[in-house]
Amino acid sequence: MRVKRRKHAKKILSFYHNAFRLREPYQVLVDGTFTQAALQTKINIKEQLPKYLDGSVLLVTTRCILAEAKEIGSRLHGALLILERYQCRKCGHQRGDKLVPAAECIKSLVGLNNEHHYIIASQDQELKGGLRQISGVPLLHITHNAIMLENPTPLSRQKAEETLALKTAPSSHEKETLDKLAKLLPKERGRIASGRIQKRKIARGPNPLSVKKKKAIVAEGMKLTKKKTRRRKRKTNDLSKT
Ligand SMILES: [Zn+2]
Repeated sequence: MRVKRRKHAKKILSFYHNAFRLREPYQVLVDGTFTQAALQTKINIKEQLPKYLDGSVLLVTTRCILAEAKEIGSRLHGALLILERYQCRKCGHQRGDKLVPAAECIKSLVGLNNEHHYIIASQDQELKGGLRQISGVPLLHITHNAIMLENPTPLSRQKAEETLALKTAPSSHEKETLDKLAKLLPKERGRIASGRIQKRKIARGPNPLSVKKKKAIVAEGMKLTKKKTRRRKRKTNDLSKT
């Protein structure tokens, strides 16, 4: 079960790595609801998260998240003690008493395209519902006494496909060269203009593993013929002596 969970995480992380350039150390932005759930399920975030994500992790929080946990009071006291050990990110709400609710603060840090590559660790369904409307935001939550990385949203998958299409499309310079080539080789025009110059298929031999036996037979056959030729030579030698 544990291996399955990690494989699942690896697959999702590799998706975010390829499509949204998510890199180590993973910046995990943690809120009070997540730390509280971790406490209740006896999960040590600092120990278990790097194992689950199979990479280095930087646990971060904000003044707004801390302030909200403090405001809730004794119910989140344990969670607050954990959060206070994490790196506090500047969220821009610090000046004066302009602190905002944790969910609002997280949304503002993620912005329109999560350019700082945050992974959001929260149990706040409403917040996560909002974050699913933005592509490229990995979401972590605790379920069945374990940390889980959510599957990428259809929006993230669509964005990833668009990025891939842009990457594989010929650049303006490449297109120019292809156009020039198309003019030089009228026969190839259709194929070149479409940007798909197919390589000639090289006829490959059968799988070497499947012909191993045959080789052995051939080798044996060769031995036999060699013996035969030797005999013949001897015979000829004998004849020359006589
Ligand atoms: Zn803030």
